[in-house]
Amino acid sequence: MSKAEEVQGGGVLINCPGCGMYHALNVDPKNGRPCWEFNNDYDKPTFKPSLLVRWPINDEAKSKGVCHSFITDGNIQFLSDCTHDKAGMTLPLNEVD
Ligand SMILES: [Zn+2]
Repeated sequence: MSKAEEVQGGGVLINCPGCGMYHALNVDPKNGRPCWEFNNDYDKPTFKPSLLVRWPINDEAKSKGVCHSFITDGNIQFLSDCTHDKAGMTLPLNEVD
């Protein structure tokens, strides 16, 4: 089991313990921006810079979800602007299936 999974086309998936879902990060500069620096360690992944995910969380999209984190050595540090209940915490990444 690992904490990151390569996907076709230069992306890497991580399983976010704050959102309970996968986030995809582009790690191939050929795909354009945003592009993250990846340490190529699928057991203890590190990405730079921080990951910011936003999405509508209801049909009207009046309120937005935010997941903002630093991923270092397989741990994910959630910043205080996250809208999920793990804001401000640092947790190990969930394993990817
Ligand atoms: Zn997340």
